[in-house]
Amino acid sequence: MAKQIYIGGQFFSQEDAKISVFDHGLLYGDGVFEGLRIYSGKVFRLGEHIQRLYESARAIWLEIPMTPDEMADAINETVAKNGLSDGYVRAVITRGSGTLGLDPNRCSNPQVIIIADTITLYPQEFYDNGLEIVTVSVIRNHPAALSARVKSLNYLNNILAKIEGLQAGCVEALMLNHKGEVAECTGDNIFIVKDGRLLTPPLDAGILAGVTREAVMDLALELCIPLAEPALTKHDIYVADECFLTGSAAEIVPVVKLDSRPIGNGKPGPMTKRLTSAFHELVRS
Ligand code: PMP
Repeated sequence: MAKQIYIGGQFFSQEDAKISVFDHGLLYGDGVFEGLRIYSGKVFRLGEHIQRLYESARAIWLEIPMTPDEMADAINETVAKNGLSDGYVRAVITRGSGTLGLDPNRCSNPQVIIIADTITLYPQEFYDNGLEIVTVSVIRNHPAALSARVKSLNYLNNILAKIEGLQAGCVEALMLNHKGEVAECTGDNIFIVKDGRLLTPPLDAGILAGVTREAVMDLALELCIPLAEPALTKHDIYVADECFLTGSAAEIVPVVKLDSRPIGNGKPGPMTKRLTSAFHELVRS
């Protein structure tokens, strides 16, 4: 079936889904977005994603031209129109078409674009055997520059890190913050397990408040797994018993090596497996 893409309240086929070359989303990465997951025809944690979207927009003085409820309806309608039972949704809000100058006040109308599609981010092998990742030299955006809490269209920071990771033969890469602490990966949050405790960097390490991160933390509470959000260093990961990444696209993926050092016994660990199966149950419930 041909994809039906939502732009500003109307649906277009992929070929006809076009926006202006003067859109500041294109010219300057000026806008915000969300990546959401569909399980059994339902968007996972839609309310949380919408809240993050509106908070990102508010942080950059971008007024989304519809209410959060209307946005939820538009996302659900796009999923239904594309007949998707399992898949991924990308909601993009750009500043809209403006002039070649920076001034956002010259942009007429923010554009709302919603794309729903199927997804296979990683092969099954990565989930079974775990990923190898590297720490890259590109640090996460300094929070005083562009806060990582804002899911903005400007992903160059992460893309540069991703390129460095790929050049080292790794599909994901670990980014530190300006203090040298562990922040997150290019498109995923990170967790470790040490002595039975689940640990993940705090939001003020300069990371995205991941919806999947939050879901995993909720599961840890439910399963009575001790959880903390301390500042972490690379060393903490080198000596961890287990490590995994979380993201809407990746879900939960084990990490078995960082910077050529095997983590724990170099295999996906029992806590990672337990949380993964609890997560799969949660998303289908
Ligand atoms: N960090 C970054 C930089 C991301 O791009 C993503 C993916 N959106 C995540 C973390 C994971 O967030 P979520 O679980 O909400 O998809």
